[in-house]
Parts: sequence; structure tokens; C-alpha cells
Amino acid sequence: MKQKFETLAVHSGQTVNQNTMARGIEICRSTAFLFKSHEHAKNLFGLKELGNIYSRLTNPTNAVLEERITALEGGAASVVVASGTSAIHYTVINIAEMGDEIVASDRLYGGTYTMFSAILPQFGITTKFADINNPETFEKQITEKTRMIYIESIGNPTLDVADIKLFADMAHKHNLPLVVDATFSTPYLMRAIEHGADIVINSLTKWIGGHGSAIGGVVTDAGKFDFSDKKFALYNKPDANYHGMKWATDLPEPLAPIKFALRLRTVPLRNLGACLSADNSWIFIQGLESLSLRMERHSENALKVAKYLESHDKVEWVRYPGLEKDPSNTLAKKYLNNGFGGMVVFGIKGGLVAGGKFIELLKLFSHVANVGDAKSLAIHPASTSHSQMTEEQLISSGVKTDLVRLSIGIEHIDDILNDIKEALDQI
Ligand SMILES: *Cc1c(COP(=O)(O)O)cnc(C)c1O
Repeated sequence: MKQKFETLAVHSGQTVNQNTMARGIEICRSTAFLFKSHEHAKNLFGLKELGNIYSRLTNPTNAVLEERITALEGGAASVVVASGTSAIHYTVINIAEMGDEIVASDRLYGGTYTMFSAILPQFGITTKFADINNPETFEKQITEKTRMIYIESIGNPTLDVADIKLFADMAHKHNLPLVVDATFSTPYLMRAIEHGADIVINSLTKWIGGHGSAIGGVVTDAGKFDFSDKKFALYNKPDANYHGMKWATDLPEPLAPIKFALRLRTVPLRNLGACLSADNSWIFIQGLESLSLRMERHSENALKVAKYLESHDKVEWVRYPGLEKDPSNTLAKKYLNNGFGGMVVFGIKGGLVAGGKFIELLKLFSHVANVGDAKSLAIHPASTSHSQMTEEQLISSGVKTDLVRLSIGIEHIDDILNDIKEALDQI
């Protein structure tokens, strides 16, 4: 019988070290790994055999995390990197090159939006943004230069839930991979690959780590997308760095299905270098073991906060995918299995000024930039995380200037609600 999520989260990926018999995960702090022979070294470098060479490429502790994420996402292979941001960057440049285009949701994490709209164009990769709530706007933007459709499972910061199956079908109709940033849902609430996603990205920094103690990211390859269409030039022209090998057609059988992950590891990660440290991998593995329990509590608390805010007369509007009245509720019920996540956003009557004051009045909540911590967090995105956007971009991204973003922690709900109540009382 296939093991369930909670079991995989605690056990998968670990092979007990027969020398130490350690039950816990060992941290392997080694830069390099011994070759058994000249032949062995040659085979490892030539991808004829897989094994550890150097910790920028692979590391035994990172491998446990990679295998565990792969098991939890239901993918074929994963690669961990130094941040969610580098996971996104490496994913894009592992598919697209100069002259290529991305069609992406315009409701994205602020850093992703800046990468797509301002950084990638420096290298000739351009993005056409479309409205996540009107999927036909995506299809209109697809041209012969498009190389992927890029969405977030639950958009940051407006919390729109994406109709993943619909986007997967659209992408596949045009022979494109669907890339999903699933940070806000985590594999516990939703497994995008089951709905057709080809590549799933998670910022490990958030709920997977779960305690605000390390930065990391991971890319999971579903192992299903066929890059043999000539438009995927990176996979179909001879790779001079691997003796003219063509990634789409020349890999031996066990590696062929995971060509995307293997290329991501051996081209962008190997040569641009944003590798994850084994110490941080260990932190994320600890986080994964309790992910299901924490997501349940995050979701339970967030729903109660959303309902409280919905009924409060000083609150102008609230968005939480779990609220019956939320525009994303139907999709949320379709895609999110074990809760609706830990994020709640809302606007206070009195707008921007009242929102800023509210954040300052909170005592239990921490005023910080991250999300997905065990502790409750609050921020005003328009003046912080999304401040690089113009007023126009803010409007099209749905970041209302009065939007207050809450990341609901796992504290007792009475204390969370009391903190919100006391802050609202003083406004
Ligand atoms: C935080 C976040 C990222 C970036 O991840 P880092 O680990 O901070 O680099 C990307 N996407 C989403 C949805 C995020 O919340």
C-alpha cells in the first residue's frame, strides 16, 4: 500500500547510515566527495553514473530533503536551491532563452513580479501578464515564442486560487509546461502534479520550514513533460558543455524522464551556484515532519480570523479562500483538501492610514516581511513587499493600497483574536 502523506513526511528519503545507525537525519558538512577511481570520477562528470562530486551539485543531506519533497508532491525528482527566488529563476532559465516568452499570472509574489518584469528582460526573456481569474486572457497571450505558463496555486497577496487543471489543459494544448509556485498551499493542502502541473516550486522558507529560521527553495519535476518539440532549443540543440549531448533525446532511460530536474542541477545550479547548505536542509526536513499538523492549525486559525473580520464593523472587506462568500471559494473547495491555508488579507475602513495604524497596534503579531511562520505575522504590502510596483501595477495585481496581509500562526486562537480585537478597538 502506498504510504500516506503524514507517514512520508516523517520517513521518506532517509536511508539509515549503517555505520552510525543514526535514527535522526545526519548533516553532511562536506564540500567534496572521494572518487573510488579515475574511471568513477570520469563517469560521474559525464553523467554516466550518478553520485556525489561536490556539494554545490548534490549533497547527502540535501538528497534526503529532495526525495522527501518528491514523495510529498508526487513528482519524479526535485532539486533544492538557496531560496524560493533562485528556484523560480533557475526554472525559467532551464526552459527559456533569449527571445522566448513566459505567460504569467499578474498576481504574483512581489519578487517574482520584479524578476519577470524587470530582471529577465535584461537577458531577452519577456513576460506577458494575464488575469488569473480570466484564464482566456492567458490563451490570448500565447505566441510561438511562449515557453511556459506560470501561475501561483494561491496568489500572493490577493489569495486568488488558480484553476490548475484548466491551466494545465491549456498549457498542454499548446505543448507548453505548466509551472506552479505552490508555496501558499504546500503539498499538504494541494498536489499540483495531480492536477496536471509539470513543474512545482516551493519556497521552503515559508510553511515547509515553518519556523522562520532559514531561506531555501525547491523545484519538483513531475517527469511528464516532453521537451522534444524543437521550440525548446535548450533541450534540442547540442549542449557544448556535455560533448554535444541533446537533453531531449540523448539521455539514458532512467534519466530521460527527469531531464528537466537533471538539467536544472547540472546547468543552472552547477554553474550559477545558488546551492542550499546541508544545515539548512536539515532545518527544512525537521519542518516537513510536522507540516501536516501545522497546516491544519494554520488553516483552522485563519478561517476563524477571517470569519471574525468578516463580521467586524470596522472592516471594509476580507479575502480568505475558505470564506463562503470569497470569489475563490468554489476553486478552493475543488483544489484544497486539508484546509484553506494560513493567509488572510483585509482592508479596514479608513484605508491606508487605518491599516498602518492597525499593524502598529498589534502586540502578538510580528510586523515582518515573511509569511508561513509558526508565529502570527502582519504587513502592509503596498508600502513594503510590493513597493517596487507602480500604482498601475499595484491595481492590476489586485494589491489594494489598504490591503493588510496576515499570516496566521499556530498560537491559541483566543490570543490571536484578542490581539486583533484590541487593535481594532483602538482605531
Ligand atoms: C517567499 C516566496 C517566494 C520567494 O521565496 P524566498 O525563499 O523568500 O526566496 C516565492 N514565491 C512565493 C509565493 C513566496 O511566498
